[in-house]
Amino acid sequence: MKRILIVEDEAAIRGFEAINLGRAGYQTVEAGSAEEAVEIFENDGPFDIALLDISLPGMDGFDLCKHLRGKSSALGIIMLTARTQEMDKISGLMLGADDYITKPFSPSELLARVDSLYRRVELQTGKAGPQSSDEIKLGDFVLNIRRRTLQKGDKNIELTQVEFQIIEYFFTNPDTALSRSDILLKVWGEAYYGEEKIVDVNIRRLRMKIEDNPSTPQNLVTVWGMGYKWNTAN
Ligand code: CA
Repeated sequence: MKRILIVEDEAAIRGFEAINLGRAGYQTVEAGSAEEAVEIFENDGPFDIALLDISLPGMDGFDLCKHLRGKSSALGIIMLTARTQEMDKISGLMLGADDYITKPFSPSELLARVDSLYRRVELQTGKAGPQSSDEIKLGDFVLNIRRRTLQKGDKNIELTQVEFQIIEYFFTNPDTALSRSDILLKVWGEAYYGEEKIVDVNIRRLRMKIEDNPSTPQNLVTVWGMGYKWNTAN
């Protein structure tokens, strides 16, 4: 269930947000003040997203944002701002909030921003599917992107940061030939002016770690004239 906490003291605006998000498939819970929101967050959570108005009676939206961020790093937070002077505070606010919307806004703008944030939150918390999005399984291998580990069967394979990035690139593009320049660009970035040989060196070292027989690799194979690919057909 996609759950949103809406915090807004003006009932008309709050209702407008709740109706439009409800139509789009979100379950909304409304709070008329920050204090009420704190209580709801504690007792009626968890929420995927919090939509916070900045101008609230009592505790304001900035303090509420800080409070909620302190409680959860995974929560998606969007601030609603009306006045231009509030915009000045946005840079500081962005430390805790993920996005902000300026009033007045249309239903389609609200939905676009909420949907986009929800997708990011969903990825981050691994709700995207039955296979948690931070884990990629290929044959005997399991790559955990969050913990930055690679396992072969029940054996943990120690990788350097660069080796890990190379493996991550192959695992997100299985059975696809990747050229040396693709790998160089992806892992070392555009600013790296080194030779493509560095790729070969790392591939060779990776094969020592992951292949049963590194001289006749079955997983990390050479594609002549192209580069390398991760072969899942074995
Ligand atoms: Ca308000």
